Amino acid sequence: MIKTDILIIGAGPTGLFTVFEAGLLKLKCHLIDALPQPGGQCSELYPKKPIYDIPGFPEVLAGDLTNNLLEQGKQFEPGFTLGERAETIEKQEDGSFIVTTNKGTKHQAPVVAIAGGLGSFEPRKPLIEGIENYEEKGVDYFIKDPEKFRNKRVVISGGGDSALDWSIFLADVASEVTLIHRRNEFRGALDSVEKVQELKLLGKINMVTPAEVTGVHGKEHVEAITVTKGDEQFNIETDYFIPLFGLSPKLGPIGNWGLEIEKNAIKVDTVDYQTNIPGIFAIGDVNTYEGKLKLILCGFHEATLMCQSAYKIINPGKKYVLKYTTVSGIDGFDGSRKEAPKAVVQAIV
Ligand code: FAD
Repeated sequence: MIKTDILIIGAGPTGLFTVFEAGLLKLKCHLIDALPQPGGQCSELYPKKPIYDIPGFPEVLAGDLTNNLLEQGKQFEPGFTLGERAETIEKQEDGSFIVTTNKGTKHQAPVVAIAGGLGSFEPRKPLIEGIENYEEKGVDYFIKDPEKFRNKRVVISGGGDSALDWSIFLADVASEVTLIHRRNEFRGALDSVEKVQELKLLGKINMVTPAEVTGVHGKEHVEAITVTKGDEQFNIETDYFIPLFGLSPKLGPIGNWGLEIEKNAIKVDTVDYQTNIPGIFAIGDVNTYEGKLKLILCGFHEATLMCQSAYKIINPGKKYVLKYTTVSGIDGFDGSRKEAPKAVVQAIV
């Protein structure tokens, strides 16, 4: 059982910033995310795109924003359960909640903050008969650890950035990379398309287009796939088949937690973004209220107010007096201390 003060479901920008705001109040956080890496939409959908409306950053790449948020929260030692989807929630007699993931990991906290964005990202799976029997036995929809593919034969299918980027990356890791796409043209970034063509000419990537993977075979583990190319059908021996057809977000199991839902989002009270169930908050893109804007900076604001109420639930009767970080500095959970500059302290005192 993983125990924490605030259990955050969703490690997107809102969830990551909650770690920092909670840390200032000496509250510990643990984050669950269905994706194998933190950052939510920023890292999964547009890591290399510049964002222009983060206060204080005239321009920041979405991937860099994620890294900065992780760096800012690191001192408060958050825990992570990645690659697992929060599935069920049970209220305990002591008022705390137990959240269990699809892989059976249990987490307990007095406060749950749902920062689930558009929902958990589920891979779009190809319609191949029996493919579900090979999941985690050679069929992977996400690449968590590329080292797993070292010196193995890999077939990737898809025509977007993920398929192209991983084909390029694995060309130096796997013993054989075959990229299969149902069209001759790829949808990904032009420089990635050019790089894949270059690697094909160098013999480091095999490319089969226009074609589709229509069968998966093997006893205990994937041993081969069937490719259909026009009227032709043939098998390719491989150790792994990685379909990368994108992700579709689904509110998923959270939709069955008894929360008030409106248009696929969780209704909250704008005082502190608490849901209809006391102790469960919803912040960031996942919530809805009058005037809601699905913007990163709104998620940051909601996380900040939510932490104030979480503090009161976790420390009943204790008063918290808001202090500027320029005055109080920051005491990291790791024992580190960032001092407030004296001149600022004197000016304010
Ligand atoms: P998300 O980033 O969606 O993260 C939610 C996380 O929760 C996901 O990682 C998901 O896997 C996880 N999750 C959900 N349910 C579960 C579950 N049951 N179990 C485990 N994990 C779960 N916003 C701006 O402010 N400025 C911009 O310029 C901007 N540009 C954008 C460009 C694009 C192309 C896109 C797609 C969005 C853009 N946005 C922009 C919107 C911005 O990305 C979102 O507002 C922001 O990501 C919301 O953050 P979040 O943390 O609330 O949710």
